[in-house]
Amino acid sequence: MKLDIVLYPDPRLGRTCEPVAEITPEIKQLAEDMLETMYAAPGVGLAAPQVGRLISMVVYDPAEKDQPRNPQVLVNPEVTLTGETITSRQEGCLSVPLDYRADVERSSSVHLKCLDLEGNVVERDIDGFEAIIVQHETDHLKGVLFIDKIGRLRRALYDGKVTKWKKRMQKKA
Ligand code: ZN
Repeated sequence: MKLDIVLYPDPRLGRTCEPVAEITPEIKQLAEDMLETMYAAPGVGLAAPQVGRLISMVVYDPAEKDQPRNPQVLVNPEVTLTGETITSRQEGCLSVPLDYRADVERSSSVHLKCLDLEGNVVERDIDGFEAIIVQHETDHLKGVLFIDKIGRLRRALYDGKVTKWKKRMQKKA
């Protein structure tokens, strides 16, 4: 089932998520629904708070456009930044309206520890595009969006655009 995506400035996107206590059939269904929602958007990653659930779970797919799907589900992920600082070009987010994009500083690699949907502990070293996605999505679980990393002036300009956009939407409704 496709889920509604929560949009900035919804306060749920700024909250810290709780760990998943137990991998129940509901959690597995949520992971499936999040993947369906992500692919339909389309996007390369989605975190639980983006569908209004304040729990520590993300889904993503690092496959290149011409490659077969490679869906990933991370439960209770812990990420350690292990690389050098690089610029992630033109990052965007399904929860950040107006298709806003900006360059963001990221680590070139990460060490990831999490559970899979069978409850197994998974540990991996990740670099490249996948490392950027993992940092972006796990930031969501701490209530952090990429627009929190773009500098005050740019952020103020963007917030102004969002305010105008929301007013237009309210007039239409
Ligand atoms: Zn995002």
